[in-house]
Amino acid sequence: MTKEGKLIIFSAPSGAGKTTIVHHLLGKIPNLEFSISATTRPARGDEEDGKDYYFISLPEFTHRIAKKQFVEFEEVYTGTFYGTLRTEIERIWAKGKTVIFDIDVEGGLHLKRKYDGQALAIFVQPPSLEVLKARLTGRGTDSNEKLLERFEKAEKELNYAPQFDIILKNYDLETACAEAEKLVADFIGS
Ligand code: ADP
Ligand code: 5GP
Repeated sequence: MTKEGKLIIFSAPSGAGKTTIVHHLLGKIPNLEFSISATTRPARGDEEDGKDYYFISLPEFTHRIAKKQFVEFEEVYTGTFYGTLRTEIERIWAKGKTVIFDIDVEGGLHLKRKYDGQALAIFVQPPSLEVLKARLTGRGTDSNEKLLERFEKAEKELNYAPQFDIILKNYDLETACAEAEKLVADFIGS
């Protein structure tokens, strides 16, 4: 059996900046490895299968649910599923590394409860809902319909912040990245 290690969870409403911060940390801290989630949504922009996500069909996702292959999964948006495969966490722990997640708020809290004592759960907080909307729109990756769905969900998700171990303000990106580096280094070192 694989020796269990640590987990670092970054959660936030879509557009708060967690992917940007997680990518920064991966470039800075060699002992971290990204948990590649499975999703039924299509790849966008320059995303790659097996790097950003495992892009799989809905029937395959459903089959994997039935086989109990997910540690957690969710229908994050209507008809679109995302989930963390057990094998993904084991693959990373087997290398002696810490797993880092970019995951929605409910999924993040699910993992925090499941791996209590091994996990650091960080909520990335944007300055306001208006700024979050502007960031999401500015990212230019979602249709108007998808944007509205994300805005609606974001408003609810902002209320979950106090349930996390740490609230990391992402107002100025450089400051947020520096704070994230310190938090992660302290946690891994502990
Ligand atoms: P998430 O992964 O939480 O959905 P992203 O990391 O994709 O969010 O960030 C959403 C958009 O906001 C991206 O275009 C990103 O470059 C931008 N962004 C992230 N952090 C900041 C910041 N502190 N100030 C301004 N823009 C930011
Ligand atoms: P996106 O489509 O922008 O890549 O992701 C949409 C949302 O799904 C984000 O909040 C992202 O963090 C979340 N997400 C990504 N992977 C997973 C996962 O494995 N499980 C859950 N619950 N959410 C995920």
